[in-house]
Amino acid sequence: MKKRSILIHFLIFVSYLTAFSQQTTKDGLRKAIICLTYDDGLETQLSTAVPQLNDFNLKATFFLNSILGSSQSNKIGQTPESVLAWTNVALQGHELANHTLFHPCPENLGWNKTLAIDNYTVDQIIKEIEINNGMLSLLDPKRKSRSFAFPCNNILVEGKDYSKIIKEKGLITYARAGGDENSIITNFQSLNTMQVPSWHVFTNTTLEQLIAFAEKARQTKGMGVYQIHGVGGQVFEISSETHKAFLQYLKNHEDEYWVTTFSEAMNYISKKNPL
Ligand SMILES: [Zn+2]
Repeated sequence: MKKRSILIHFLIFVSYLTAFSQQTTKDGLRKAIICLTYDDGLETQLSTAVPQLNDFNLKATFFLNSILGSSQSNKIGQTPESVLAWTNVALQGHELANHTLFHPCPENLGWNKTLAIDNYTVDQIIKEIEINNGMLSLLDPKRKSRSFAFPCNNILVEGKDYSKIIKEKGLITYARAGGDENSIITNFQSLNTMQVPSWHVFTNTTLEQLIAFAEKARQTKGMGVYQIHGVGGQVFEISSETHKAFLQYLKNHEDEYWVTTFSEAMNYISKKNPL
């Protein structure tokens, strides 16, 4: 019994050391935090981004909406391939997070009037988030709380900021909003954890631009959140080679960057308030 207790304490100590070394440099200083987040459950994320992340043993966050699309199979009741694929992504240690069910966006961004957020009620968006939470819990039963990303980075429904409502209802723990290539988080204490800025990476962003954002986070010992879509195809595409080279860069600079999931980073900064 005593031996077991010593062993348990030893294991807790080892896991503490491992976590500490992930978050701090050799000199004991805090590393910059990098979150790689991917939106919309795109096919090229499954075919390209996930295998590359796994090759470098880097964990990322995937904001998913309506992945239960119709199956291409002619067999009755065939499970959509994406269900199995995203279940495996969760088992590989990545985070599956909420991006609503139907991805409603403002009509002026080209959305059909029927499903444009301009015509939504707060109740409607809450139902979508609840249903998607339920679906994600079936794909990824281990995770008990969910992060969220606002579709098209829009935080308004019926003219109201709904970020607080979904937090108060206990649906969402942290939420990611939009931003640009200067949206580095430098002051963790004043950060609104329901509107965490991110850089919406646009089509044909280069390796140098991806690195420049990470370096801004490194110089300030802050946090940089990437908002990525297609990898090697699809919307806001960055090339497969650029993506891979960027992961290689992060891996080569492991002593300066802590690359982790959005929820893990937010748990760390909101509990410790290290700045
Ligand atoms: Zn989206």
